Amino acid sequence: MICKSCAHYCNISEGHTGICGRRRVVNGKLQVPYGAVCSLALDPYEKKPLYHFHPGKFVLSFGNLGCNFKCAFCQNWEISQVGKDETADGKEQAVTAQQIVNLALAHRANGIAATYNEPLISSEWVADIFTLAHANDQPTCLVSNGFASKETLEKLLPLTDAVNIDLKCFTEDGYKWLGGRLQVVLDTIKAFHDAGKWVELTTLVVPKFNDSDDELRNIAEFIAKLDPTIPWHVSAYHADYKMFNGPQRTPPERLIRAVELAQDAGLSFVYTGNIGGAAAYEDTICPKCGCKLIIRKGFQILENRIEKGRCSNCNALIPGRF
Ligand code: SF4
Repeated sequence: MICKSCAHYCNISEGHTGICGRRRVVNGKLQVPYGAVCSLALDPYEKKPLYHFHPGKFVLSFGNLGCNFKCAFCQNWEISQVGKDETADGKEQAVTAQQIVNLALAHRANGIAATYNEPLISSEWVADIFTLAHANDQPTCLVSNGFASKETLEKLLPLTDAVNIDLKCFTEDGYKWLGGRLQVVLDTIKAFHDAGKWVELTTLVVPKFNDSDDELRNIAEFIAKLDPTIPWHVSAYHADYKMFNGPQRTPPERLIRAVELAQDAGLSFVYTGNIGGAAAYEDTICPKCGCKLIIRKGFQILENRIEKGRCSNCNALIPGRF
């Protein structure tokens, strides 16, 4: 039986699971992750990260177990690799879509996010929650690796308001190591952008994997060509999962270099993540007049000078949903 939830299109035989380790064929039927979460939390949008989507507001965030990738540096591997790695011991709890939406409303969340693990492998569950969220005027967002099948893209596009997609590197070889394909991810990014959804991108900068000038420049130039106002988050990595014998963390100067390359490519908004001090580029600056519009410290907003989506100094339109 072919599973069409992500671009692996696994052909799963009776009693077996697909590459994600979470979708299984039993008695001729595909069993899918549904009706459970392993994590449920009220997070600031900044934590997704989404910096231009309702800044300072909170989003009820849910995640399940499993992933269709196998990144050796995964920072969430205890939940993402369940079903594939027996040392990954994340657990799920039963919950209904209605309970999730009720929680969002009770806590005055400003939206619901599918995040923590890879939502594309539980597309039916995400679609039902997002449908109910929209029926209750809650915006929806997806935090994903972008390895979507055509079918899941068609299903989730109309139900999703914002995405943060990981653009993990810019070579097919790199994506092969992670268990995916670059072109599929680029197509997914383009599909959300072309559909008018709010898009931000994240690259975890991993030493010796994707931190060369050429690779970072290629990512920045791809984004600039698609839309130079798409925010790009370049985040610091720390050793995790199967990478403890490798580099321990991203040197701050590589993140600063990524920011320079992004600016050279013409990107208007580039942010660093998981790092403080001189390497922290956290503020939103007006690309027209240079005024500091949103001043951040970590996930906290210290000041927001955007008024009705415009720079309060020069009236330039600031892309996003404010
Ligand atoms: S979600 Fe993707 S990885 Fe999982 S079974 Fe379906 S096609 Fe395979």
